[in-house]
Amino acid sequence: MKLLEYEAKDLFRAKGIAVPPTGGTIRDLKQLAGALKRAGKAPWVIKAQVLAGGRGKAGGVKLAKTPAEAKAVAKMILGMTLISPQTGPKGVLVREVLVDRATDIDRELYLSIVLDRREGRPAIIASAEGGVEIEKLAHERPEAILREPIDPIRGVEDWQARRVGFALGLKPEQIGPFVKMLKQLSRVFIDQDANMVEVNPLVVTKKGDLIALDAKMATDDNAYYRHPEFAKREDLEATALDKEAKKVGINYIELDGNIGCLVNGAGLAMATMDTVSLAGGSPANFLDVGGGANADQVTRAFQIILKDKRVKAVLVNIFGGIMKCTTIAEGVITATKRVGLKLPLVVRLEGTQVEEGKALLTKSGIKLIQADSLWDAAQKAVAAVKNLPEEPAKNGAAKKGKAAGNLVPAARPQRKTSGGQK
Ligand code: GDP
Ligand code: MN
Repeated sequence: MKLLEYEAKDLFRAKGIAVPPTGGTIRDLKQLAGALKRAGKAPWVIKAQVLAGGRGKAGGVKLAKTPAEAKAVAKMILGMTLISPQTGPKGVLVREVLVDRATDIDRELYLSIVLDRREGRPAIIASAEGGVEIEKLAHERPEAILREPIDPIRGVEDWQARRVGFALGLKPEQIGPFVKMLKQLSRVFIDQDANMVEVNPLVVTKKGDLIALDAKMATDDNAYYRHPEFAKREDLEATALDKEAKKVGINYIELDGNIGCLVNGAGLAMATMDTVSLAGGSPANFLDVGGGANADQVTRAFQIILKDKRVKAVLVNIFGGIMKCTTIAEGVITATKRVGLKLPLVVRLEGTQVEEGKALLTKSGIKLIQADSLWDAAQKAVAAVKNLPEEPAKNGAAKKGKAAGNLVPAARPQRKTSGGQK
C-alpha cells in the first residue's frame, strides 16, 4: 500500500526525523486559517496529497507568503485534477492538501531505502542531486546515484551512513545528524514493513539543518496482519468495482479493452490475455475466481464484469483441476440466468469432467458459444465483439474436442473470420 506524504511524514516525526512544522491536512477552505496558524509563521507551502510524485511540476505544490495567497493557492489545488508522469494521462483528483511551514532551501538531496529484490536485502539509494525525478537521473547519469546495501540483521551501520553522508557532500558537522536520520529512516522502513521509503528532496537549509521535505512510502500488503491501522485504511487507488470484487473475494483487474474475462488462476489469466491479444482483441478486465469458485461466486463475478460498460462480450476460460467442469458449468448456467445476460458469452472449459460439463451447458438451452481450446475461445470472443460470424478454427481444434490442449496454433490465421456458427 502506498502512503500519502503526510502519513509518511507523521511516521518520520514519530521516529525523530526532522520534517517541516505542519498545520496538517485540510479538505475545505474553511479549515485553512486554523492550519496556517498551526504551521506557524509565513511563508507556507500547500501540497496536494495524492499517491503520485511529480506534483511540483504539475502545479500541486505551491508556496504562499500571505494568508490571502495561501487561500488562492489552496482553492486552486483542492479539487484540481493533477496530471504528472506518475498519475497516467487521466490524472488524479486532489481531495486533500497539506499545509506546511515553508523551508529555506540551500541544497536538495535524494535519499531512499528500497527493497532490492535481486540482492534479497534493503539498499540505501542516495544522490547529491535531489529534487529531480530520480528515474530520469538514473537513466541519464547513473554515476550520480549511490547504492549501499544494508545487512538485514545488522541494519545500517554508522560507517556506512557516514560514507553516504560524505558522498552527498555534507559538511563534517552535518554528518552526525545525517547518520542519526538515516538510521531512523531504516527503522521506519523495518518497523512499517515498507518496501520503499523515499525522501526527495532531503534538504539542507540555509542554516545547515537537514529536513525531510517530502516523503513517499509503500508498505508490503502481506504484512497487513502486523499493521491493522493500514488494513483498515481506505484504499485510495481502488475503483468501486475493485472494492466490490475484494468484498466477494475475487481478484479483479481492470484493463482497457472490451472483452470481459472470467478465469481461474493468475497463470491462466495471463495466458488468456496473451491469446485474446493474439486473436486481435483486448480484455476489458479479468476476474480470477481462484480455485474454489462456487455458483454464487461465479454469479457475483458475472455481475461485476457486466457493471463495466465497456464489456461487449464475456469470455469464460476455466480449467477444472480439483474443481470439476460440471461445477463451473452449473455456476455459469445459474449466473447467466440470474443476471439475464444479453451479451455474447463464450465458454471454454477444460479438465476434470469436461465432457459432462459441456453437455450440461448444451442441455441448458442458454445462448452461449462453446469453445474447445483457448485459441478457439479467444477467436470466438474477438469475433463476437466485432459482431462478425466466425469460422471454425483453422487447425480444426474447434471440431475435435480432444485437440483442446493445443493453446495456440503454429501458424496464426491472418484472414478475418468468416462462415457460420451455431
Ligand atoms: P513532488 O514534486 O511531488 O516530489 O513534491 P515535493 O514535495 O518534492 O516538492 C517539489 C519541489 O517543490 C521541491 O523539490 C522543492 O524545490 C519545492 N518545494 C517544496 N516545498 C518547499 C519549501 O518548503 N520551500 C521551498 N523553497 N521549496 C519547496
Ligand atoms: Mn518530491
